[in-house]
Amino acid sequence: MSAIELINVTKRWSDTVAVDDVSFRVDEGSFVVLLGPSGCGKSTTLRMIAGLEEVSDGRIVIAGRDATHEPPAQRRISMVFQSYAIFPHLSVAENILFGLKVRKIAKPERTRRLAQVVELVGLSGLADRKPSQLSGGQRQRVALARAIVAENAICLMDEPLSNLDAKLRHDMRVEIRALQRRIGMTVVYVTHDQTEAMSMADKIILIHAGKIEQEGTPDELYDRPATTFAASFIGTPPMNLLALADGPEGAVLDGSNAPVLDGSGADRIFGIRPEHVTITTESGLPAELVVGDYLGADTIVIARVGGQPMQVRVPGRFPVTPGETARLCWSAEHVHVFDRASGRRMSGSRVRSIAA
Ligand code: ADP
Ligand code: MG
Repeated sequence: MSAIELINVTKRWSDTVAVDDVSFRVDEGSFVVLLGPSGCGKSTTLRMIAGLEEVSDGRIVIAGRDATHEPPAQRRISMVFQSYAIFPHLSVAENILFGLKVRKIAKPERTRRLAQVVELVGLSGLADRKPSQLSGGQRQRVALARAIVAENAICLMDEPLSNLDAKLRHDMRVEIRALQRRIGMTVVYVTHDQTEAMSMADKIILIHAGKIEQEGTPDELYDRPATTFAASFIGTPPMNLLALADGPEGAVLDGSNAPVLDGSGADRIFGIRPEHVTITTESGLPAELVVGDYLGADTIVIARVGGQPMQVRVPGRFPVTPGETARLCWSAEHVHVFDRASGRRMSGSRVRSIAA
């Protein structure tokens, strides 16, 4: 049985359709990430699952029962927000236990759960502090603790790490994932950050303008993006997408003349990830190097093929003299082909390797 199921769920506000006929399942104990750009409908979807927003159409099933019109409290779901939503005048312990008091859970039980959860999220010794005496990461832990202490099987998280700096965000990512596994909680996690989605999710649901663009494991989204949108959303830097043109011996990258695919090019788009292109000097597709961005572990080189930019990830330091010429190579298995009109992935194109 799925922990959560959305069946053809739509949310409209007068003339805006925020969520457009969305269906997906969340397995019990899994970590599902709703990923997409700002305004695509992630929070609205989450709020409908929580019961904080009415659905306009469709059904929401929670643990096998139709919860479409259940009030939030009956759904037994916890929620963690970006803003933490903790009370400044209450101590850490009081913040964590607030919901349990409201639900009239007895004192000994509250004390037991508090001790356990404080330990679990790493707030030991801080229970009497006020939120103003905590760092951003510790405040986020209070919000997490409050969600966990309710002992609900499902927890919804809406961009919970957006207010933290990069290093702490990374640490908290690892912590949240470990915690979720340890207590076997079902989590639906909203983010616009593809790195967060790739590193945390069992399953990613990529949303674009209120609709599901692609659903799959991080590997599936990386290896076989269903559309040019998915291809350009996953990966840093994202996949190179280049226009093709017709050449005498097959499709060429527009502006260059070596064939990269058999057949016509005008109706297709060529995709390759920066990490799947290599730079050589002898043979390969002629290119001009524009600039290199050294990142420590690797260098992101921007090259131009014909008139089109192509990013290449080169391990280590790679000095670039702007304007110098080089050759680019790749293997056919790393090439993705998309339909130009629809942006959808195409199969069956005969792709050529560009050998060194
Ligand atoms: P996300 O969380 O992906 O950034 P949201 O779910 O918050 O996106 O919003 C999706 C769309 O719905 C946006 O166009 C937003 O402006 C609109 N929207 C959200 N809440 C409301 C509301 N209460 N009334 C009208 N439009 C809303
Ligand atoms: Mg949002």
